[in-house]
Amino acid sequence: MNLIFLGPPGVGKGTIAKEVVKQKNIPQISTGDLLRAAVKEGSELGIKAKEYMDSGKLVPDDLIINLMKEKIKEDDCQNGFILDGFPRTIPQAEALEGEIKIDKVLNFKALDKTIIQRLSGRRTCKQCGAIFHLTNIPPKVEGVCDKCQGELFQRDDDKPEAIKKRLEVYQQQTAPLIDCYNEKGILADIDTEQPIPKIISDVMKEI
Ligand code: AMP
Repeated sequence: MNLIFLGPPGVGKGTIAKEVVKQKNIPQISTGDLLRAAVKEGSELGIKAKEYMDSGKLVPDDLIINLMKEKIKEDDCQNGFILDGFPRTIPQAEALEGEIKIDKVLNFKALDKTIIQRLSGRRTCKQCGAIFHLTNIPPKVEGVCDKCQGELFQRDDDKPEAIKKRLEVYQQQTAPLIDCYNEKGILADIDTEQPIPKIISDVMKEI
C-alpha cells in the first residue's frame, strides 16, 4: 500500500509512521530525515539543502523530486511505503503522480497551539534520529536517547523563528494539496488531538 502522510510540521506524522512501519512492514520515507542525513554527510545535496532547512524554507522542488524518484524505485519500496514529508508542493505531487499510484493520503490535523507546543518541546537523537518531547514523550534520562544513549538536541528549525516560518510555508505551499487529494477521493482526516494509541488505531482503520 502506497501511503502519503500529510500535515503540518510537528503534527506527529513521523512518530505515527514509525508505529505503522512496525505493524504493516512497509518502510517510512521521510524526506526531512533523508535531507538531514545528506547535510550530516556533507554531500552536494546536503550542502545545497542546509540553508533552506535551517531557516524553515522548503528545499527547491527539483532537488527533492529527483531524490524521491530514486528512492521509491528501491527494492524495499516495492510492497508499499509511507511518504512522510513528501509531497509538500503541487509540482512535487504532480511529479509523484507521474511515477506511481498512491492508494491513500492521511491528513493529520491539530490546533496551531498544539503544533507549536509539540515542535518547541521536540528533542531528536543526534545518533539514531529517535524523537522525544520534553513533556509529552520524555526520555528516561534527561538529554539522553532511550534507544541508543545518543545525545538529544533541539533541531535549529524547531526554534521559534523557524517554527513560525515553517507553519507559514505549510499554509501557503502544502495545505493546497489537501483539496487536490480530497477531489481524487483518497484523503482521510486524522485527528491528532487524541492519545497516541487512539491516533494509531484511527490510522489502522483507514489503511
Ligand atoms: P521535516 O523534518 O519533514 O519537517 O523537514 C525538515 C526540512 O527539510 C523542511 O523544513 C524543509 O526545509 C526540508 N524538506 C523536507 N521535505 C521536503 C520536501 N518535500 N520539499 C522541500 N523541502 C523539504
